[in-house]
Amino acid sequence: MLITPGPDLLYLTGYHAIPLERLTCLVVPADGDAALVAPGLEVPAAEAAGVGALGISIHGWAETDNPYALVASLVREAGIVALADSMVAAKVLALRDAMPQVHQQLAGPLLRDLRMIKSVDEIAHLRAAGRAIDYVHEQIGDFLRPGRTEREVGDDIAEAILEAGHERVDFVIVGSGPNGASPHHELSDRRIEVGDPVVVDIGGTMPSGYRSDSTRTYAVGHAPEEFTNYYRVLQKAQEAAVSSVRPGVTAESVDAAARSVIDEAGFGEQFIHRTGHGIGLETHEEPYIVKGNNEELRAGMAFSVEPGIYLSGRHGARIEDIVVVTTDGVESLNNTTHDLLVIDPSFSG
Ligand code: ZN
Ligand code: ZN
Ligand code: ZN
Repeated sequence: MLITPGPDLLYLTGYHAIPLERLTCLVVPADGDAALVAPGLEVPAAEAAGVGALGISIHGWAETDNPYALVASLVREAGIVALADSMVAAKVLALRDAMPQVHQQLAGPLLRDLRMIKSVDEIAHLRAAGRAIDYVHEQIGDFLRPGRTEREVGDDIAEAILEAGHERVDFVIVGSGPNGASPHHELSDRRIEVGDPVVVDIGGTMPSGYRSDSTRTYAVGHAPEEFTNYYRVLQKAQEAAVSSVRPGVTAESVDAAARSVIDEAGFGEQFIHRTGHGIGLETHEEPYIVKGNNEELRAGMAFSVEPGIYLSGRHGARIEDIVVVTTDGVESLNNTTHDLLVIDPSFSG
């Protein structure tokens, strides 16, 4: 297996290497010890990340060396190499040129079970990420005010994400009024108005490398009745999906549990995305909670449950929690209320 910088390298070694044009590559033989090929000037960072302590030998290369030939010499007589799914094409082709007789395939299928089934430690990291982002949602009432722009609110939220213990802000979505109907809208200069529903979907990366992702929908003052009606449907759908989670049920059945509630209320056409995605060292990873995915859930899988209802040009709503499959059911890692959070527009604190 040949693993260049990215989530697989981080997962396997704890080394958060920055992807560069210079080649860094973990070489994992089917038998025997792994080796890390790295530019000489990156060797101290790899050592500091504890790569050597794992029993992985580090092969630094000098500026005029050919690192691809060095990897080929470590691969020796192997007939097949499995490449990290995220490896860039330039490196894939350079590796092919360095060992034209070796067949290339993807490492994803070899690593997917390891990455998808979280260990007790990984779940603890995700739980801490969940608590951190919950703490940010608890402060949204201080930031959302009529007359402020989504960007102003978003800047406050980004600061709060870092203050809550994240090392990096991954995304801040503040979709007010009609912008809430676009699931991946980020921030705009639209000013929040009294009566706006506001979708707030936020996440970051903790120092552990594990990620948070949670959505709540707020109402600034009195929201339209049409909105509060479908918000109640959404709340039921999200809860139905979460309570359907346990080992042995399929990923698509969790999607169906949310979708059937929304369909029955007549909003099926307005639920325009899958119900969820796995999360770990990446915000979107396997398993995907989507129709057609008959993967059976197993204890240790972590994913989002985030149905939404979007009325184009008007407003929208989404509720998103990260959940973990336990041996006999489900644990939610986000625990702020699902009730519509109405913010008093006259309050100025
Ligand atoms: Zn998304
Ligand atoms: Zn989200
Ligand atoms: Zn999500």
